[in-house]
Amino acid sequence: MAQTIFCRLRCPRCFTSFPAEIALSTGTKGRLSSDLCYRGEGTFVYPYLVVVCPGCGFTSYHQEFDYLAELPKYSPYHPVGRALKNFLQERHHLYPGSEKYRLAAEDAKRRGSSPLAVAHLHLKGSWCAREEGNREAERYHQEEALRHFRLALGEVEEGRDAAVIRYLVGELCRRLGRFEEAEEAFGSITLRDLPYWLHNALRRMQKLAAQHDSSPQELPRA
Ligand SMILES: [Zn+2]
Repeated sequence: MAQTIFCRLRCPRCFTSFPAEIALSTGTKGRLSSDLCYRGEGTFVYPYLVVVCPGCGFTSYHQEFDYLAELPKYSPYHPVGRALKNFLQERHHLYPGSEKYRLAAEDAKRRGSSPLAVAHLHLKGSWCAREEGNREAERYHQEEALRHFRLALGEVEEGRDAAVIRYLVGELCRRLGRFEEAEEAFGSITLRDLPYWLHNALRRMQKLAAQHDSSPQELPRA
């Protein structure tokens, strides 16, 4: 089951150390949505994969921060436990997942990260926004993911990775209501390059694009 842990991290930029709640895995026994969001049983973990430094605002995957220690398990009546809970709740409120991924993507762009890395940050941001019920933020992240996946296609060699990117380009276009572009992207996939587990999804999303249906979809368990 997907779980989060409480720990102390240190920022690689300003060396502030601070408590954080992070997730170490996406869990098991999950379901996959048509834009490849894997949702394991238990907590929706994507907001906990990225951390915002309270000292300087640096935002990135938690692996980029120094892991200092797991925090002791405080009782809810312990003053430190209460202060910690309040701090984390406030941070969670200030930086919902969709906002964390927006900041992380901005930072990645400034650092000159690859378009593919930026695209994946925006894609995860769109999953968080969907979970938050924030359609405006979801569209923003989908548009940015789409733009960066298209840029990435210019850098990735044809083969499995390129086929999956083309599938995501098609699916993001479908979700954004750009049905002709979706059909074009789906049509550009070389089927033998696409992983077998995505073949049914491709056929279904192609059909939905042709019917001008932009609704989110869950993929059947393989
Ligand atoms: Zn910092």
